Amino acid sequence: MNSAPAPANAASINLLDFDRKGLGAFFVEHGEKPFRATQLLKWIYQEGVDDFEAMTNLSKPLRAWLTAHCRIEAPEIVLEQQASDGTCKWVLETHCGNRVETVFIPEESRGTLCVSSQIGCALACSFCSTAQQGFNRNLATSEIIGQVLAAQKRLGSERKITNVVMMGMGEPLLNFDNVVAAMNLMMDDFAFGLSKRRVTLSTSGVVPAMYRLTEVCDVSLAVSLHAVRDELRDQLVPINKKYPLSELMEACRDNAKLAPRRTITFEYVMLDGINDSPEDAKGLIELLSTVPSKLNLIPFNPFPNSPYRCSSNNRINLFKTMLNEAGIVTTVRKTRGDDIDAACGQLVGKVKDRSRRHLKLKAAENERAA
Ligand code: SAH
Repeated sequence: MNSAPAPANAASINLLDFDRKGLGAFFVEHGEKPFRATQLLKWIYQEGVDDFEAMTNLSKPLRAWLTAHCRIEAPEIVLEQQASDGTCKWVLETHCGNRVETVFIPEESRGTLCVSSQIGCALACSFCSTAQQGFNRNLATSEIIGQVLAAQKRLGSERKITNVVMMGMGEPLLNFDNVVAAMNLMMDDFAFGLSKRRVTLSTSGVVPAMYRLTEVCDVSLAVSLHAVRDELRDQLVPINKKYPLSELMEACRDNAKLAPRRTITFEYVMLDGINDSPEDAKGLIELLSTVPSKLNLIPFNPFPNSPYRCSSNNRINLFKTMLNEAGIVTTVRKTRGDDIDAACGQLVGKVKDRSRRHLKLKAAENERAA
């Protein structure tokens, strides 16, 4: 909650920064009953109301107090692009002028929203375009859940968000508290009410945070594996130098213990001549035999100056067949939205932090008004 720069009117508390527990504590702190939290959540997330005066089951004095001290503010959609396959990419702007990207992927039986957790990313994975822009800052809870709120509002009642994947910009486990609070809201029956199977967190393998996650938040886990030998993974996913494969797989086994028949999705980007040989497939079969797993092969999405090429269809299919024959359920991710740069690894936001300039402008405005 402390990661976004304070808005110009710092007295104003954004209620989207709280999950149910946090909101209950907030109300108790201000002399109200904790059940106000569920009333507020329903108005915000189920009725789409952001005007406290319209919240008719709250007392008039409470409505007035909320109006004076709080706000409900999601990032605003400033740009929309629709791909030929129906995939929608939105650029959203936060109150301090940072921009973040969110992608909606419609399918026949579901609608998946790909949500960002950070502006930029610090992890420097060599095949990911987000890595190229470096790290700017963590998103606040309001900016993460606000992506879902803004997207659902834009989609209207006809197209529903049925799944959320934390696979946009950033490493969600390096923004732990804010991401967990936002995922709590996604799964809360008084907010978005998605089942825990439909909320997925994807990590590149921040091992200590994976153990913490297993303890506090039961969501589906996806792990960006991409290599079966430490030597290669060190190059592709440099955080592997800190948390090598043996430690990563142990953390996965720990997470899989949460429930019987629970599986972890492993993501594996297909890079021509780098990690796509039959030897790699055999190594993968061996590695995944120790964890209940599903495998998602991701055709590499190229971006300017990237040193890699995508594996051929033949290679990808051979890989898939070998894994499936070994009993590991393996799918190939369809490349969606690539004509608008919304596919995996292509989410390059306009990360320039304009917050200071924005605040200066605001201060000048306030001075003029005074
Ligand atoms: N940091 C998290 C979540 C963001 S990336 C993670 O690493 O899991 C979401 C997925 O897209 C990851 O599996 C990531 O490795 C993959 N990805 C990144 N760049 C890609 C590219 N250029 N082509 C295909 N997949 C990519």
